[in-house]
Amino acid sequence: MKNYIPRRFFSAALAVILLMSSVISLSGCGKKNEEYRDFNFFAMDTYITLRLAVKGSDGSVLSDDYLSSVANECADILSDIEGTLSAHSEKSDVYALNSGVDVMITADDTLVSLLETADKIRELTGGAYDYTLGAVTELWDPKTAVVPSKADVLAALEHTGSDKLMIINRTIRKLDSKTKIDFGGIGKGIAAQSLLEYLSTTDVEYGLVSLGGNIGVFGEKPEYGNYKIGIRDPDNAGGVIGYMYLNSGFISVSGDYERYFEVDGVRYHHIIDPVTGYPADSGVRSVAVHALNGASADALSTALFVLGVEKSLELYEEGNLKFEAVFVTDEGEIITTPGITEEMFEPVGKND
Ligand code: AMP
Ligand code: MG
Repeated sequence: MKNYIPRRFFSAALAVILLMSSVISLSGCGKKNEEYRDFNFFAMDTYITLRLAVKGSDGSVLSDDYLSSVANECADILSDIEGTLSAHSEKSDVYALNSGVDVMITADDTLVSLLETADKIRELTGGAYDYTLGAVTELWDPKTAVVPSKADVLAALEHTGSDKLMIINRTIRKLDSKTKIDFGGIGKGIAAQSLLEYLSTTDVEYGLVSLGGNIGVFGEKPEYGNYKIGIRDPDNAGGVIGYMYLNSGFISVSGDYERYFEVDGVRYHHIIDPVTGYPADSGVRSVAVHALNGASADALSTALFVLGVEKSLELYEEGNLKFEAVFVTDEGEIITTPGITEEMFEPVGKND
């Protein structure tokens, strides 16, 4: 049996919000450390960290050049994904579908498979996760910071719903030309998963990827203590409410503090309830989801935020989607799904 990764490997907590303090370019190798190299860069509109073990799968020590080439390949993978899925890049397929292309023949395989995955999760969450919300989500752009009129929200809602898209083989047909796709709630999870699939084919023995609130680990299953992920206190950017320990799969966090604007003291955040078209008000400030699949973890974090604790627990009990979750409620209470063990989550007192 191979050794576990030494506990000190990830002894510094990887607080989702803290870890991006220094952004360096991919051209330079990241922080020197005996056991791993960090590569930090910006892609897909977010800060990315790759933490790659120096140890190779055959026990050798990998060179910085090799690790840099792996990191560069990861950057290329992300750039490809962004080129397909981005709602903002004028070259992307999603941009084309959102701005006038009603029929896409021989669509990109990545796009087709993502639409299928997204649709499955949409169905299994009863529509709480809805990738067809684009016409609504664009009304709530924190950059514009304008509260849309109720009439505009209701009008935009008319153009949502998976019945507005038809996918046959590789042809995507929009049945409503005003329907817009928004992969903001799943894209980074997909990307995290794609990176891990690639990394598992390299000589790197183990490591971690982190894309703006979506973290995945690969390689030899470590002890829980090795991947310690700080879950942010929604009220305190520098604080954590506890730590999740990851030894497989992905953790995605959605919170009302991530992207929002305020008007007259009211916070309008970026996670939209597909029923009302308004920022979800389900009694939850944040939810961290663990799942074995990156897309599921990401889409579910968005969906569970919309559903709130009670409905999320019902979804959990139904068992069609396998996940565990840690919620922080409006009252600051921490609620976990039944499968979250002490090994997986360690709450921290406010004064710790
Ligand atoms: P996340 O931070 O993963 O929860 O994703 C939030 C992003 O997903 C938003 O910025 C929107 O682009 C998109 N989004 C918002 N509400 C929903 C929803 N109910 N279903 C799917 N995507 C959503
Ligand atoms: Mg998400």
